Amino acid sequence: MPVNAVSLHADIKANLGEQVLNDVLRNVWPQDCQSCNKPLGTEPPSLCVDVDELTNVTMATLHHTACQASSWNDGPILRVSNNLSWRSHLINWPIESGDDGPVIWPTLLVNPHLEGVQLRQDTFGAWKVATLDHAHEAGLRVAGPDFVIDRPLPARAGHTPAAHLNGTTVTVQLSPFEQWGGTFYHQEQTARVRELGGVMFGYTTAVNPPDIATYEDFVQPVVQRQIAFGFVSLAR
Ligand SMILES: [Zn+2]
Repeated sequence: MPVNAVSLHADIKANLGEQVLNDVLRNVWPQDCQSCNKPLGTEPPSLCVDVDELTNVTMATLHHTACQASSWNDGPILRVSNNLSWRSHLINWPIESGDDGPVIWPTLLVNPHLEGVQLRQDTFGAWKVATLDHAHEAGLRVAGPDFVIDRPLPARAGHTPAAHLNGTTVTVQLSPFEQWGGTFYHQEQTARVRELGGVMFGYTTAVNPPDIATYEDFVQPVVQRQIAFGFVSLAR
């Protein structure tokens, strides 16, 4: 479950507005405290927002209320989160392909940072959750007309996204600073990755991948355009 109750300073709601605040709460997951790195447990955590005006990176993060009281911080001293957790799940995604019926595309679904989410401000000053913007800039696409499954993600800033297979473990390196992986249960899945020459990669903060128990659990956020996808070629 995403976080269902938080300790919240009034500034955060005032700055984000109720709708964006609710969106933030749907994109943070109460795993580990971003102050002490211990599990958050079942008590409602505090939500903290740090606005870094130098790097333009704004993060909303979860903490124990005893470790860090909720606040909107746009001062010069930032609370640095080095403890963000990521989770993945490998899915056999059957994608319709014309007359032949569905074909399995092994898919590495990743939530890159459970306890925090990046926010961005538009030119009018309105905040929004930035996960899918970040994915879009990397060439990933949500379900829709511009969703292409069989074209590898393009190079960006001199780095070509690449997948690596090591036994039954697949890793995807999206950028020099972003790498995630997962382990297949069956040899057939790794054989299929080799046959396709890569793996489908899904990126989201709206899902905690290990929570996916049924195909419907996966399809629903796909249809709601909360997961961005791209095909990542195996490194040569
Ligand atoms: Zn703590």
